[in-house]
Amino acid sequence: MPSSKGYAAQNAESPLAPHAFSRRDHGPTELTIDILFCGVCHSDLHMTRNEWGNASYPMVPGHEIVGRVSAVGSAITKFKLGDIAAVGVIVDSCRHCAPCRRGEEHFCAEGATLTYAAKDRVDGSTTMGGYASNYVVDERFAHRVPANLDLAAVAPLLCAGITTYSPLRHWNVGPGKKVGIVGLGGLGHMALKFAHSFGAHAVQFTTNPRKREDAMKLGADEVVVSTDPTQMKPHERSFDFILDAVSAPHKLDDYLPLLKQDSTLTLVGLPPEPPSFAPFNLIRGRVSIAGSMIGGMPETQAMLDYCGEHNIVSEVEVIPIQKINEAYTRMLKQDVKYRFVIDMSTLA
Ligand code: NAP
Ligand code: ZN
Ligand code: ZN
Repeated sequence: MPSSKGYAAQNAESPLAPHAFSRRDHGPTELTIDILFCGVCHSDLHMTRNEWGNASYPMVPGHEIVGRVSAVGSAITKFKLGDIAAVGVIVDSCRHCAPCRRGEEHFCAEGATLTYAAKDRVDGSTTMGGYASNYVVDERFAHRVPANLDLAAVAPLLCAGITTYSPLRHWNVGPGKKVGIVGLGGLGHMALKFAHSFGAHAVQFTTNPRKREDAMKLGADEVVVSTDPTQMKPHERSFDFILDAVSAPHKLDDYLPLLKQDSTLTLVGLPPEPPSFAPFNLIRGRVSIAGSMIGGMPETQAMLDYCGEHNIVSEVEVIPIQKINEAYTRMLKQDVKYRFVIDMSTLA
């Protein structure tokens, strides 16, 4: 069994600290990846602190994984030793239900297996995530990485990237569409890059006026400070689509009146407290609130290939693993530009 080193939370209050464990041996269609970089998603913070109520400990978080293939099973077709491979938020599913057959493994009828803090379908153990030296995964749930992209900056594509790419594609964001992105964080900045790249008129909403210049550089056509009603008012009934990537409670009622008739606000952010909104803001304009979760394996590969073709990566601040607790504190202060990524060589 491959031994692994990582950083784990031992309970909802403990800081992350070194933790040794072992991975199961890889099966014939599985590979072992020696992890080079792992992104730090706000979900890691929600999960380690049990903000969604589904934690199990010890918990090694991390689901934005890029690394080098160090062992392959006998039936592997997609990778060979030494290749770069990437893993995102899910690592297994039933593989036979209708969503799995469609390549929408994240909507698996029997429940997809999360990269960490979930029950492993093979041996019943608890999955341990990517703040670690290695990962063992079936090749169906591992992705090829375009050779032209910086590997540290690729890592966040595996969650922040696909979570924003998928709904922007699903709701047909493109030329002639006015799109709002709420929250300029890890997910938000990727949404902004994709919306701009798809040719839409992209409007970034932020609570922080100091992010205006960055947002413009990242592709915003307009930046709106959402706490200023005089900036919000002129946008009433003008949006074809709004993607909300905020991690904390906030008022959807500020955004629903900005949608055109029959348009949609899609939530990807997952604040622990359920959002509230006035039904009057839905009936006026017959607008919808929807949600979206990561993406299936074929779409994740398509997103990575698109990023390779268009030179799109995340804006990252690379940190040593020893700074992970400080990174969580800074994330809560909205002090990150725009994704922390752990350099796993610092684990040694
Ligand atoms: P993040 O980097 O911390 O960004 C969150 C952003 O939300 C901040 O940059 C900030 O933007 C805004 N914000 C924070 N506190 C706020 C407040 N009190 N009021 C208004 N705005 C506030 O987080 P992330 O990694 O992008 O993740 C965002 C959310 O998506 C998390 O809840 C995460 O769990 C969830 N998520 C969902 C999926 C999915 O499949 N649906 C996948 C990954 C993550 P401004 O400073 O610009 O206002
Ligand atoms: Zn994530
Ligand atoms: Zn399934």
